[in-house]
Amino acid sequence: MDLNFSQEEEAFRQQVRSWLRANVPRNKPMTSREGDDDKTWLENAKSWQRKLFESGYVALAWPKEYGGQALDPVRQSILNDEMVQARAPQLVGLMGLGLLGPTLISWGTEEQKRRYLPKILTAEEIWCQGYSEPGAGSDLASLRTRAEIVGDEFVVNGQKIWTSGAQYADMIFCLVRTDSDAPKHRGISYILIDMHSPGITIRPLVQMTGERGFNEVFFDNVRVPRKNLVGKLNEGWMVANSTLLHERSVLGAATGSQQLFNRLLELARTIKRNGHPLTQDPVIRQRLADLEIRVEAMRFHCYRQLTDQIHGRPPGMESMVNKLVGTELNHDIATAAMELMGDYSMLARKQEAVLDRGFWPYEWMFSLGLVIGGGTSHIQKNIIAERGLKMPKSR
Ligand SMILES: Cc1cc2nc3c(=O)[nH]c(=O)nc-3n(C[C@H](O)[C@H](O)[C@H](O)COP(=O)(O)OP(=O)(O)OC[C@H]3O[C@@H](n4cnc5c(N)ncnc54)[C@H](O)[C@@H]3O)c2cc1C
Repeated sequence: MDLNFSQEEEAFRQQVRSWLRANVPRNKPMTSREGDDDKTWLENAKSWQRKLFESGYVALAWPKEYGGQALDPVRQSILNDEMVQARAPQLVGLMGLGLLGPTLISWGTEEQKRRYLPKILTAEEIWCQGYSEPGAGSDLASLRTRAEIVGDEFVVNGQKIWTSGAQYADMIFCLVRTDSDAPKHRGISYILIDMHSPGITIRPLVQMTGERGFNEVFFDNVRVPRKNLVGKLNEGWMVANSTLLHERSVLGAATGSQQLFNRLLELARTIKRNGHPLTQDPVIRQRLADLEIRVEAMRFHCYRQLTDQIHGRPPGMESMVNKLVGTELNHDIATAAMELMGDYSMLARKQEAVLDRGFWPYEWMFSLGLVIGGGTSHIQKNIIAERGLKMPKSR
């Protein structure tokens, strides 16, 4: 394997880097964490995505006919790296860009691709994911939200939970039961629902970070056109899994861990104990070295995933391993930071003595959520064992 980038790729990296240097917005609320009201940060975040799109830096690998540039995945991976290095705000349309978009490219009808993909790119329509239900998390196929076909429409009734971003999303890609008599993995369909439809109620839930990150979403006789079905009726499980594989590659990116580790290193250089920075303490050095080795291993593992993309293979085992290892690694890095900070780790961001502007306590709580979201570590281990290593099924 050749791990070097070509001259053209390096030139592209330089071009992206200088564009980001000149354009990354600073000192504006860009996420719900920074903004006091949803409207302001959301407007800022949408216009940031639009600006990136207009400069040719969104979804580089998507086909040209739907607004992409049909560039190779290496360029997309360079762009992702540079965004993280520049601490550029994350894209508000991530669910559309990372999860639904690639799913529609594989499974959508021509009409669906033309209708939805361009608006995902420009952040004109923000998407959320309606999978989990109160009785169907890890065991997703037990979901009970049902859709009956009446004429040219589905009529949807039921409840979703933990729906991230539902409070400001325009659309939801949703799993519904369309045949209650079929075995549980059959009888499920994948449909696209307008979040502004009559009959939808959204109740925000506050996470331990203090943010209103996710929601309960209730459907009461919500009418959805039949043409919003993705894939075949009752065969949504396959489509759902394709989205999940994309989700796991998004969650397990290595550059985030590298960036987090660099920030931990800065912290260890800043905090002094007995007159010396913590980077001179042999026990702390050992801990940092251990984490850095894991970050490096993760970086090389991610190249396997990139190799799959270069060869046009859909995300598979590699993305599951990345999700498991990457999300746990990020949480371990944040845990190390909390321990280095000692009692200061308890301080919230608006307090005077807070270290690193309160980044670490937030990151520690947030990264724990990502170990669970998109399938918990236990479930990832089961999948890797059963599907990857062909071990006997767990009971
Ligand atoms: C930050 C965050 C964002 C999220 N965003 C969304 C979203 O936008 N849309 C959406 O649909 N969902 C979302 N979720 C929900 C997420 O997908 C579920 O929380 C997750 O799948 C686990 O389901 P559960 O919470 O019902 O836990 P449960 O399934 O009840 O699991 C409880 C515990 O039992 C363990 N367990 C369960 N079954 C097994 C098994 N067979 N073997 C071993 N251990 C097992 C689990 O690992 C876990 O530790 C989000 C979750 C989080 C934390």
